[in-house]
Amino acid sequence: MKSRNQNLLIIYTGGTIGMVEDPDDKSLKLLDFNHISEEISELKKIKHSITWKSLDPVIDSSYINPENWIQMAQMVFDYYNEYDGFIILHGTDTMAYSASALSFLLENLRKPVVYTGSQLPIGLIRTDGRENLISAIEVASSTNAFGPMVPGVTICFENKLFKGNRTTKFSAEDFNAFISPNYPVLAELGVHLKFNKEAINYPEHNKTLRVYNQLDPNIAILKVFPGISSDFIKNFFTNFKLRAVIFETYGSGNAPTEAWFIDILHNYINHGGIILNVTQCMAGRVEQGKYETGLALQNAGVIGGSDITTEAAVTKLMFLLGKGLDRENLIFWLNNSISGEIN
Ligand code: ASP
Repeated sequence: MKSRNQNLLIIYTGGTIGMVEDPDDKSLKLLDFNHISEEISELKKIKHSITWKSLDPVIDSSYINPENWIQMAQMVFDYYNEYDGFIILHGTDTMAYSASALSFLLENLRKPVVYTGSQLPIGLIRTDGRENLISAIEVASSTNAFGPMVPGVTICFENKLFKGNRTTKFSAEDFNAFISPNYPVLAELGVHLKFNKEAINYPEHNKTLRVYNQLDPNIAILKVFPGISSDFIKNFFTNFKLRAVIFETYGSGNAPTEAWFIDILHNYINHGGIILNVTQCMAGRVEQGKYETGLALQNAGVIGGSDITTEAAVTKLMFLLGKGLDRENLIFWLNNSISGEIN
C-alpha cells in the first residue's frame, strides 16, 4: 500500500556505509552522517521528512557492546512519539546482534525500527548502501489501514526484509549478506515491495512502549568440536564464574556425553548456572530428546534453545539475566518466545 508522508528518524551508528578509504594506509575510516546524506542525492526526492541523529562517536560495529544497545533503544524510546519510523544505520558485522537486542529491550513496539548498512562504502560507485538505505526508508514509511506495515525490529538488506531477531550475517562478500533460515522473509523488495503479511507480527494496540536498560553480559559461548579437551571444558566452567553459557552443539543439539563431560555440566547447573543448547547448524532446531547424546544433555539440566540464532540467544540471555528473574522464570522465558525469536 502507498504511504502517507511520514516523519522518519535515521540514527547513524557507523559501519562501512559511512566509511572512506584512508589514502595513506588504505584502511576504511568512519565519517559523519553529513557525508552519507550528501552522497545520496536521491534523498532530496523523498517526500517524507527525514531527521538525522548519530551515536557519538560513530563506530565500526565490532566495537558494539550492550551499552550501545541500551543507548539505541533509549533513543527510539525518547523520540517514539515524534517519529513514525526509525532507521538505524549500522555495520553489518554485528547488526544481527543489535537487532536482536532491541527486539527485547523495546517491549510493545508498534512502529518500525529498520536496521540497514552496506558491504561497500557509500562513496563508491558500486555501493549497495544507496539502495539499502532507500529501501529501508520505503519500508519504515509503509503503512496499511491500521498503522505501520511492518512494526518491530527488522533488518533491510539487499532486496529483502528480515525479522531482526531471526537473522544472521552469512556472507562477508555478497551484497546479499543476511539470511533468516528459520523464519520467512517479511518482504521482497523488487520492483514492488511485496509484504509477507502472515509473517509480520502486529502487536496489540492498547499496550504502551516500554524500554529496558539493564543487560548482564556475564555469559559466554562454548562451541563443541571433535577433540575438545576435558581440561579446557573444566577450566571454562569453573574459572570464569559465568551466569550462563550458550552451548553450540552439533545438529539437533548433540554433543559427546562421556561421564566426565556430563558431570562438569551437571555440576555447573547445580551451582546455579544456565546452559542453553543452540545448534551450530544454520537452519533447523535443537531437539534434545531425538538422540541419546542430546537426551543426556537434557537429563543434565541443559535447556534446549529450539531454533534460536546464536545472536538472539546472546542478547536474550543478557536481557533475561539483566531483568533479575528468579531461576524458574528465567528458564520459562528461555523455553518461550519474548519477541518471536523462537518458534
Ligand atoms: N566492519 C564493518 C562494521 O561492521 C563491516 C560493515 O559494516 O559491513 O562496522
